[in-house]
Amino acid sequence: MDLARFPRRRYTPGPTPLERMPHLSGQVRRDLWIKRDDLLGLAGGGNKTRKLEFLVADALAKGADTLITVGAPQSNHCRLTLAAAVREGLKCRLILEERVAGSYAAQATGNNLLFDLMGVENIRVMPAGSDLAAAMAEEAEAVRALGRVPYAIAGGGSVPLGTLGYVACAQEILAQSLDAGVAFDRVVVASGSAGTHAGLLVGLNAASWDGAVTGINVRRPQAEQEGNVHTLCVQTAAMLRTAPPERHAVTCLDRWVGPGYSLPTPEMAAAVRTAARTEGVLLDPVYTGKAFAGLLGLIETGEIEPGERVLFVHTGGSPALHAYADQLR
Ligand SMILES: *Cc1c(COP(=O)(O)O)cnc(C)c1O
Repeated sequence: MDLARFPRRRYTPGPTPLERMPHLSGQVRRDLWIKRDDLLGLAGGGNKTRKLEFLVADALAKGADTLITVGAPQSNHCRLTLAAAVREGLKCRLILEERVAGSYAAQATGNNLLFDLMGVENIRVMPAGSDLAAAMAEEAEAVRALGRVPYAIAGGGSVPLGTLGYVACAQEILAQSLDAGVAFDRVVVASGSAGTHAGLLVGLNAASWDGAVTGINVRRPQAEQEGNVHTLCVQTAAMLRTAPPERHAVTCLDRWVGPGYSLPTPEMAAAVRTAARTEGVLLDPVYTGKAFAGLLGLIETGEIEPGERVLFVHTGGSPALHAYADQLR
């Protein structure tokens, strides 16, 4: 398996920090570590930066001058795709899906403000359940009609090429774990469009890593999400000519989704506050707040046992915090 065969842009100067959470570890009697992918490069950091390194390299190789992608009204993926476009001198168009009815507000802060600041070329707002693939195709056609070259990026960048970003992250984690002298028993990560979870699984499995990856869902029921993650693992492993993880290695817990995608839960709000007050780490309400609530919940039930060494992958999202102020007070 050789990731270097794939063209890649670099948006982060080196590895992200892997840090121990000393205060919280003492409180919960588990050895808790955090992979600071909230500190990745491009505007505001977060996991989509790793995927975009491979996706944008592909777009450039194909002569594209305009990136098109899709996400929710406060999408971190849209913010980072736009930031990558600006960095590369490309234009960017966004399709925003109102997964919660009426959730788009032109004057909203958070990522929405950043779309405007970074000069998005066009925003199209669609109701939940719209045919997003068709909307992307229409947008691409509109770009072509201007004599330009579009490149469409799937939601969350979760296609095999984007997933390579998290195969690379798995390799980075293993090197840092060796360096720090700590062998992790478990990795906990938010599981959304599935690329982050799948990439970590493929990379760790290919290295014969001996631990569990626990995905915490932010949107879908367990069986559906596990199927999505496993399918993407199989496709990504095929691209790398390595063996995919087995289906039983894919765990996606849906106990912390609450009423739905991006809708607040008391456990999320408590987890965001706990991380902020014990370690000075800013999570987000939509992804990492719920994932961290899952981590704390699994400790409370004993499913994560005393003494376990656990790595939480912080996938970012704090630029959206202010847009959810009412849900966090
Ligand atoms: C997109 C996102 C996730 C989920 O990652 P997927 O690869 O879509 O599963 C987690 N955290 C943050 C902050 C995100 O923006």
